[in-house]
Amino acid sequence: MIEIQQLTFTYPHGSFHLHISELAVESASVSAVVGPSGSGKTTLLHLVSGILPIALGKILIDQTDLSTLTDAERRRFRLQQVGLVFQDFELIDYLSVIDNVLLPCRIGDAVALDDATQRRAEKLLEQSGLVDHIRKPVTQLSQGEKQRVAICRALLPKPAILLADEPTGNLDPTTSGQILDLMLSSARENNTTVMMVTHDHSLLNRFDHVIDFERFLTSSEPAPAARGTPE
Ligand code: ADP
Ligand code: MG
Repeated sequence: MIEIQQLTFTYPHGSFHLHISELAVESASVSAVVGPSGSGKTTLLHLVSGILPIALGKILIDQTDLSTLTDAERRRFRLQQVGLVFQDFELIDYLSVIDNVLLPCRIGDAVALDDATQRRAEKLLEQSGLVDHIRKPVTQLSQGEKQRVAICRALLPKPAILLADEPTGNLDPTTSGQILDLMLSSARENNTTVMMVTHDHSLLNRFDHVIDFERFLTSSEPAPAARGTPE
């Protein structure tokens, strides 16, 4: 369960302001995150993943209050619990496709680099239509192929939480449907809680919930906490 309470975030430089008074995401549910460009969707994913520190308010992940963790503890939390598909992929250019997918084995202890993991990495790549590219440097791939490598890397450790930032943004409708199937079936198999940013409204019926950022925009925030209080 991801629970956000009275969260206020501003970047040190810039005027952007994100305020979420209350948001709860059930364990093992899959939620789509939608909203206008610049409304803070990526920022929220970076806060929930522990990349950005929380100055005001709380994000509770099961029993862990991210706002009380040090930078090192948040990093550890992220490596152990979170699979992240970044909007700009963040692949390592000098590594091959398979070594990018196996990266979680090298930078944390969430998953061991053994035969079973190696096979899982290859299977994920096969299921993503990348079987012919396994040993290639990622620099030789198209944008859509890179995006699929990033998705395989996030799924590899069977994370408790999968945060994906427009993971089908560079894919044609058929591939995007297949990749969503792979993400959601892997998530359902492993009881992963999913938050996925998308602009593709044709995909929304595949999710349990839709989190619409329109409601967090400062001027239109309907104060959901107050709404639940008896008049
Ligand atoms: P979205 O993903 O919904 O398009 P973002 O979370 O990326 O929105 O960005 C929200 C706002 O924060 C934007 O106005 C963006 O310019 C600003 N922003 C993003 N990153 C930074 C940063 N590192 N420093 C200052 N402002 C930022
Ligand atoms: Mg974004």
